[in-house]
Amino acid sequence: MNTTTLQDTPLTTQPKVAIIGGGIAGSTAALGLASHHIDTVLIEAGPSLVNGPPICHLHAGGNLYREIDDEQCITLLRQSIDTLKLYPHCADYRPTLIAIPKRDPGTFEQLMPRLELLKRHYQQLVLDHSDNKVLGEPDNYYRVFEREEVDALLSKPNPTKALTASDWLIPVVKKLDLDTIKFPMVLVEEYGLNVFRLAASATLVSKELPHCHVHTNTQVTAINRHHNQWHLTLTTEQSSKTLVVDYLVNACGFKSGTIDDLIGCQQQRLVEFKAAYVTRWQDVEGHWPEVIFYGERGTPNGMAQLTPYPNGYFQIHGMTKDITLFNDGLVASDTSSSQPQLPNALASKISHQWPEDVANARTEKSIDFLAHFIPEFSTAQVGGKPLYGAQQIPGSDPKLRATDVDFSTPFYARSEIVKASSAIDATALIYKDISDKFSLDNAPFDMPALTRQLSELDVANTATNLAIARQYPTYLASRVNDQ
Ligand SMILES: Cc1cc2nc3c(=O)[nH]c(=O)nc-3n(C[C@H](O)[C@H](O)[C@H](O)COP(=O)(O)OP(=O)(O)OC[C@H]3O[C@@H](n4cnc5c(N)ncnc54)[C@H](O)[C@@H]3O)c2cc1C
Repeated sequence: MNTTTLQDTPLTTQPKVAIIGGGIAGSTAALGLASHHIDTVLIEAGPSLVNGPPICHLHAGGNLYREIDDEQCITLLRQSIDTLKLYPHCADYRPTLIAIPKRDPGTFEQLMPRLELLKRHYQQLVLDHSDNKVLGEPDNYYRVFEREEVDALLSKPNPTKALTASDWLIPVVKKLDLDTIKFPMVLVEEYGLNVFRLAASATLVSKELPHCHVHTNTQVTAINRHHNQWHLTLTTEQSSKTLVVDYLVNACGFKSGTIDDLIGCQQQRLVEFKAAYVTRWQDVEGHWPEVIFYGERGTPNGMAQLTPYPNGYFQIHGMTKDITLFNDGLVASDTSSSQPQLPNALASKISHQWPEDVANARTEKSIDFLAHFIPEFSTAQVGGKPLYGAQQIPGSDPKLRATDVDFSTPFYARSEIVKASSAIDATALIYKDISDKFSLDNAPFDMPALTRQLSELDVANTATNLAIARQYPTYLASRVNDQ
């Protein structure tokens, strides 16, 4: 990291930019602007970058969300391809198996048109630029498995390393209660995205960029506008300083409304508190893909999501009010404040640790939820503390997934992303707005080259250290295919 203190942050005649919030949106924006020689100060309240709510799935096609429109799925596909190019060390290159439970009204025929649409878009993206081919062969974007084919896999030994679509299915189908699901099943090239590796990559790249000044453990507590500049009060445990900048980016995640309130500009948004659970299933055999069992969100039969890590660790989402979702967990802003207010019980889960008994009870419910489809999974145990947090959704549509930036206040960008993969689009738009506002003759926006110098070992080691510092099992910083 550039170890500038608040006092010696250099003054320049070029526009100086402050980004408040060092999550994936703010960190990516800081790397993008600083790599284009824009003097950028990234201010993060927490002890490290990308330290907010969890990120485990890349959403390369948005197939987890049956309820969103095709346009959003296509956007997420393109954004995810860009994310893989920028953060190649952060993906877990394993597919996602999608199953429709018998208890769910959905059918395979309803999924097909979207899968075909996404495959065609991926084919076109690869034709446009061969370096877009980061999700395997476009023709294999998804594979369909009928019951007969699955039955034939039951007698095959688990591969030592999964290389083909069938390889990925072998260990899973042996453990699935095949009578709980409809056929066919679909294996789609939607990969994992690792929050610890994202944090590691962003941290390592930020240290290499002379124009990127990172201040962690620093909170913005007041903002004023004087003579066409933003005056920010930066508060640490020890002191308070003023930072003067020409352009401000609000990337505060679910707290974006607090910055809008400080500035005095009204913005409508939703905030949703959610949690995922860390479990350990020591009896697991073979390398697993992610496994999704569709379900109607918020009902007792909501979607179940099993995300694999090495050494028997699995992260679970269950889209019911007892597991991932919470009563009164979705809140909206109102005319008195742009910051939606979570109930105290949920807000305190973010500011303090969860009581252990509450965390364990929800984790055990998540295990039971998955055991409906994978009976032997009932032997899994609590594997760590939950991964949780609140995420923002600009506007009032809780189904919105593909978002970017709002520029309705001059010299102020509100970067509100719902999915990590939207961070690069948001950065490109901020770069364009700054270039336009300050008539900069900058190079065209381009980010992927930034991470080329990172080594897999450095990312892996830094990610592991971050997992330890955040008190999670180190295996959560690893890839399932690494074991
Ligand atoms: C349970 C759960 C699972 C999820 N799974 C996925 C997934 O699989 N894939 C995916 O793409 N997305 C997922 N998401 C969504 C994803 O976590 C968020 O969309 C993403 O973290 C948003 O990034 P961000 O940078 O906008 O905000 P954040 O990550 O919230 O970062 C905002 C930062 O701003 C800082 N900050 C706030 N106020 C101030 C201030 N005044 N001064 C200084 N700093 C401040 C905070 O400390 C924080 O670090 C999940 C969310 C949840 C809750």
